[in-house]
Amino acid sequence: MALQEQNYWLTTIEFPITDHARPLPDVTDVAVIGAGFTGLSAARTLAKRGARVAVVESQTIGWGASSRNGGMVLTGLKLGVSQLKSKYGAELTRRMYAASLASIDCVEQIVQQERIDCDFSRCGHLEVACKQKHFDDYQRQAEIIEVEFNHRLRVVPGRELNTEIGSSIYFGGMVDDTSAGCNPARYVAGLARGAMNSGAEVYEHTRVNSIERDWRNGEPGWRISTSRGPVWAHEVFVGTSGYTGTATPNLQKKIIPIGSFIITTEVLPKALAHELSPRQRMIYDSKHYLYYYRLTPDDRMLFGGRAAFFPENDQTVHRSAELLRRGMIQVYPQLRDARVEYVWGGTLDFAFDIMPHAGQIDGLYYALGYAGHGVAMANYQGQKIAELMAGDKPDNPFVEIPFPGAPFGLYNGKPWFLPLAGAWYKMLDWVS
Ligand SMILES: Cc1cc2nc3c(=O)[nH]c(=O)nc-3n(C[C@H](O)[C@H](O)[C@H](O)COP(=O)(O)OP(=O)(O)OC[C@H]3O[C@@H](n4cnc5c(N)ncnc54)[C@H](O)[C@@H]3O)c2cc1C
Repeated sequence: MALQEQNYWLTTIEFPITDHARPLPDVTDVAVIGAGFTGLSAARTLAKRGARVAVVESQTIGWGASSRNGGMVLTGLKLGVSQLKSKYGAELTRRMYAASLASIDCVEQIVQQERIDCDFSRCGHLEVACKQKHFDDYQRQAEIIEVEFNHRLRVVPGRELNTEIGSSIYFGGMVDDTSAGCNPARYVAGLARGAMNSGAEVYEHTRVNSIERDWRNGEPGWRISTSRGPVWAHEVFVGTSGYTGTATPNLQKKIIPIGSFIITTEVLPKALAHELSPRQRMIYDSKHYLYYYRLTPDDRMLFGGRAAFFPENDQTVHRSAELLRRGMIQVYPQLRDARVEYVWGGTLDFAFDIMPHAGQIDGLYYALGYAGHGVAMANYQGQKIAELMAGDKPDNPFVEIPFPGAPFGLYNGKPWFLPLAGAWYKMLDWVS
């Protein structure tokens, strides 16, 4: 089979069908923008609580990062615990770490409650060290996490790493058995079904163009202008992640959209798949310009990375296929002759402080900024912010931290500095 510019996960799934001709409601309790993990998780929770919910999606269910990702349901945040502690202090960091563990349980519960057939498995993740000093840092991190957060990670020295991975280029690894893997497209389709079965309505091919404060029958709310006409909503929840645009300009200015790309090989012989990843872990390396990889449930090697910094387009996807294939062979020379069958890309959402952020901005509820760790956290934040909207007081440390914009206000939502960011990350990998 020749290389296809297509998302492999989408070949394994059918999405729920929505009625494209159905008119939008005049009025709803909550309008949710974006039908990915964040928006659908919020919609499901709110609908279960009895709210009338309209999910408005400019493309189709799961079209964004939620169907395009590696399916790694990971503990931890993008920043390491030492950095988190020095920035936010021990107590807030402890609550953030607890939230990251709870986010895995959140996905598992949704899978069970909605009976989603998505190959969810607590296979654990393996982080591999590209330098000796990265490996030395694993030992320190594991100690802090065990002592302060009561969570156990296992540090694997280089000489024992062959029990975890069939590659000899790394200096050692760190395993967290709590993490999980899934087929993200099947999961997001099942989540959409769950939200719809709970009463949420999903409107595909409906782009939100603007959101304005408005009063209706003496009540405050929002007038939402869409490509298919207006909707009036008491509250709005924004779950647009790396695809955040001009409808929410003050969020757009705080989020940098960054491309990430994935290739997938042909189905590998069982013995070779076992040699590459004997425990079927979700694997990523310690570089800034990192690679992440895993076996798919049918034994393909799925290999991803930030091969280009710009979001996906024909050029970046094509170029990424070759760069990622070279990277994959550096890690696994055994795959030199394996055919690459699929390549695709998607857009990640980075805040300037590389942290998730959630809460309210300009009166609109939102959650985003997952920085490549969104499979678990997006589902969790969707649920937590929905609980907040429903009047609960859920513990959510990410609503408490400042949400910085660009230094000196130098960013209007158009990421002119991405080539510089790419060069900067490559430089960091040489020196750190
Ligand atoms: C290639 C890739 C690999 C990744 N791998 C992993 C991984 O293995 N593990 C992990 O934890 N994370 C990973 N991530 C990150 C993870 O996928 C995301 O953090 C997560 O899916 C974000 O979900 P979301 O619902 O917030 O956003 P999305 O799924 O991106 O959904 C946002 C939706 O909003 C819609 N939208 C935007 N603007 C409008 C508008 N004006 N009107 C209507 N709709 C609008 C978009 O069409 C889109 O469907 C990866 C991301 C990519 C791109």
